[in-house]
Amino acid sequence: MLRAPAVAFWVSLAFTAAAQTPTVGVFLDFDSVPGKVPVAVMKKEVAALLKDSGVSLDWRTVGENTGAESFDGLVVLKFQGKCRVEAWPENDRVTGTRALGETLVADGHVLPFTEVRCDAVRQALRYLRPEANQGEKQKALGLAMGRVVAHELYHALARTTTHAARGLAKAAESLEDLVAGPQIPFRKEDAEAIKQGVTNQKPEDRTRGVE
Ligand SMILES: [Zn+2]
Repeated sequence: MLRAPAVAFWVSLAFTAAAQTPTVGVFLDFDSVPGKVPVAVMKKEVAALLKDSGVSLDWRTVGENTGAESFDGLVVLKFQGKCRVEAWPENDRVTGTRALGETLVADGHVLPFTEVRCDAVRQALRYLRPEANQGEKQKALGLAMGRVVAHELYHALARTTTHAARGLAKAAESLEDLVAGPQIPFRKEDAEAIKQGVTNQKPEDRTRGVE
């Protein structure tokens, strides 16, 4: 009688493993909580951009972290400043190159802690047509946040500081492309690096080329 359930368990376990996609828990921490629309658009954009990697994301807020859940990978995303659509003073204008997001590197190791600079990211809204309404601005902000987050997740999940010559893993994006351009996908090899970073559990191998 004990034998039969054990066999059944094995069969069902094998089936589940074959169908499973690696899941990363993404914990959101906002300085200033954006509206529902930008957050929803951001999540949708990031999911679309990571689709080719085969990695799926499970979004949480830092406050929801009970420590009881398990994921194949984990990233903390901190949003600094105001990821909001609102009027800002003219002297708030950003010129030159400014970081839109940054992922922590310590002793040559990429750590799963990313900061998104909302005050820089929302500057992308300046590239919308002047007559854009509030709803369009909310969606554009979500799109810009999503593209910056996807780029940083590439660093955090593939555990690399390197950039690609083209695609979403390249070093810099124009603010205009964040809101106005078509979706910029990851190159195939960068999507693969994200998947390998999440599924490969040998950190010493992954970080060797980083220093
Ligand atoms: Zn980068």
